[in-house]
Amino acid sequence: MEGRTCRCGHVMDLKTSWTDTNPGRRFFVCDQKGDRCRCFVWYDPPICDRSKVVIPGLLRSIRRLEDEISTLQADNRRLAAENIRLEAANTSFESDNITLQAENRRLQAMDGKLRDAKRRQVQNQTSAPGSSRCWIFFAIILLLGVWVFMY
Ligand SMILES: [Zn+2]
Repeated sequence: MEGRTCRCGHVMDLKTSWTDTNPGRRFFVCDQKGDRCRCFVWYDPPICDRSKVVIPGLLRSIRRLEDEISTLQADNRRLAAENIRLEAANTSFESDNITLQAENRRLQAMDGKLRDAKRRQVQNQTSAPGSSRCWIFFAIILLLGVWVFMY
C-alpha cells in the first residue's frame, strides 16, 4: 500500500471509517491540521448493502460486550478491594481472638483459685465450730477438774 500525497502537498493518512454507512471502509485523509484542507479519498470500494446491516450489528455486539467487560472489571476491582479490607478485618479479629482466649484462660485460672479458696473457707467454717466446741468442752472439763481439785 503506497502513501498518498494530498493536492495541497501534505502526506495523507490511511484511516478506517466506523460509521453505519461505511463500516470498516478505509480512506485516505490529509494530515494537515486545522480547517485549511479536509481532503479525503476512499481507498476501499463501497460496501454492499448487506454488510452495511451486518457489520454495524456486529460492532454494536462488540461494544456491548466491551461494556460488560468494563463493568465486570470494575466489579472485580471493587471485590478485590473489599477482599483486602475483609482480610485486614479478619487479621484484626484473629488478633482480638488470641487476646480474648488468653484473657479467658487467665479468668478461668482465677476462677479455679476462687473456687479453691471458697472450698477451703467452707471447710474451715465447717471444721471451726467443731474445734471451738471441742475447746469449750475441754475448758469446762478443766474448770470442773480445778473446781473438784480445790474443794
Ligand atoms: Zn491537504
